[in-house]
Amino acid sequence: MSVLLQPLSDPLLTQKGVTLSVLREDLLHPGIPGNKWRKMKYNLQAAQEQGCKTLVTFGGAFSNHIAAVAAAGQEFGFATIGYIRGEETLPLNPTLQFATNCGMQLRYLSRSDYRLRNEPHFQAEILKIAPKPYLLPEGGTNPLAVKGCTEIVTELTERWDVLCVAAGTGGTLAGIIAGALGKGHILGFPALKGGEFLQKDVTDLVQAYSGQTYQNWELQTGYHFGGYAKHKSELLTFIQDFHAQHGILLDPVYTGKMLYGVFDLIKQDYFLEGTRLIAVHTGGQQGWVGYAQRYGLDWPKL
Ligand SMILES: *Cc1c(COP(=O)(O)O)cnc(C)c1O
Repeated sequence: MSVLLQPLSDPLLTQKGVTLSVLREDLLHPGIPGNKWRKMKYNLQAAQEQGCKTLVTFGGAFSNHIAAVAAAGQEFGFATIGYIRGEETLPLNPTLQFATNCGMQLRYLSRSDYRLRNEPHFQAEILKIAPKPYLLPEGGTNPLAVKGCTEIVTELTERWDVLCVAAGTGGTLAGIIAGALGKGHILGFPALKGGEFLQKDVTDLVQAYSGQTYQNWELQTGYHFGGYAKHKSELLTFIQDFHAQHGILLDPVYTGKMLYGVFDLIKQDYFLEGTRLIAVHTGGQQGWVGYAQRYGLDWPKL
């Protein structure tokens, strides 16, 4: 059995006759947790092969992706430049302080400039001022990221029926769908309000990577808790109870919402008796320090 697959025991699971294991992708790599490592692996290889020296990317001030790129740069010997949405706020929040400590150079973009981040013109300007740059898009989603995320599934040796994963840009979900090759059923839980847009984005990402369209997946758009990084005490209580019961710390932006949703669907008899579920823990715990500060929480003690 994969060391990263942790079966849960819970009276609800027994009562409903389903099994649920958490795939601990958050423990995959010591410095670069979860799906961000999967998404960067082949990009770092490509950057090395192309002789690039600087990883350039974009993100919000609390972004797991920014933290991961900074850590990867430090570990693999790239300079890193992070373009951050919005104005500089001092002291730096814990995410940006971490990124700085890893050697990342931070540059701030006004919200209107930030909207140009995917424009070729704007990117060309940005790349001009970086030595031998390799560009990673916001959230790190590109075809090589999708390729890396296929391995979440292809490395799984256990049998499963339903695989559940949180979604931001949908790159991780797309990789899982592509890696599953039409087998099983995959549920994506958008962390953003209005996550229906991911239906097309994910379809396009899967198509661009594999040339295939699969039907064995769906979005569960009802578990965003008001929107990206929005705070709700009901969600926090769930995350605390989950931690107390299973010893697994979920994050408040992605995996907490996803597992809340999984348990809610189980309660509603969404899954047939005998269904073997896997929930992918994509990491994100680095976000807790800043999140707890922002909302004045005294939990978790990290
Ligand atoms: C970035 C992130 C996601 C979302 O990944 P996408 O590939 O953008 O959908 C999910 N969970 C965690 C913890 C993340 O940091």
